[in-house]
Amino acid sequence: MSEEAVMPHLRLDPDDVGDQDAESLLQAIKSDLRYEEVIHGCLNCGVCSGSCPSHRFFDYSPRIVVQTVLSGDAQAVKDMMDEYIWACAQCYTCAMRCPFHNSPGGLVMIMREVAVWRGMEAVHRLLKPYGRVLLKVLSIGNQLTPDMIQPDFFPDWGPKIPWSSTDLAIKRKAIPVYTLQVTTSAWRVSPETSYELYTIYEETGVFRLIEQIDPNLYEVVSDMVEDLRDMVESTR
Ligand code: SF4
Ligand code: SF4
Repeated sequence: MSEEAVMPHLRLDPDDVGDQDAESLLQAIKSDLRYEEVIHGCLNCGVCSGSCPSHRFFDYSPRIVVQTVLSGDAQAVKDMMDEYIWACAQCYTCAMRCPFHNSPGGLVMIMREVAVWRGMEAVHRLLKPYGRVLLKVLSIGNQLTPDMIQPDFFPDWGPKIPWSSTDLAIKRKAIPVYTLQVTTSAWRVSPETSYELYTIYEETGVFRLIEQIDPNLYEVVSDMVEDLRDMVESTR
């Protein structure tokens, strides 16, 4: 399995990385394999914006995203990739409502991926705060572990939280699924499984995406993978 086999739409030609010419960005979006699945034309009806949670709270409209891409105004599309599209919550309500079977959220996903691969400044600025979340997901498989569910951290979760946070080890042992009987991670994962997962991330370009977004995080993740590789190979 290779990066090209799994994500041919990501245009991994090294010459493309860093190319932020507006026409080239628009071309990358429109030549994505998913583009024809997410955009079939647009009635400009605004149903997508009317049902979009981000439209309710931010200066953001999926109708405008679709209309701008369809207009072919490359500079306007590039400007949107700098900030505008990052307000999308990727909930895909728009895709369920659009009478034209468009997926504005899917279009935004393509635009974001192009922005990442082309190393746009917005990516570094807007995704940096998510580094800690990503590291948690990569290292323990989830953002939240059972032992993090403590009353002090979640005062708004109601009166049952104190009960839920006591005797965690015993309660988790009562769960019949063996992989869930841990408290410091969401589920038990063997080093071999983690290593296989990291190998897939490596082969399919996920680590390259992380390197592109946050080189410091990539260093930390690389060290983690290296330690795991040593551990797994020493037991073989
Ligand atoms: S709901 Fe569909 S057709 Fe209507 S404006 Fe949005 S994308 Fe266009
Ligand atoms: S996927 Fe994005 S654009 Fe679509 S409804 Fe959700 S937040 Fe709005």
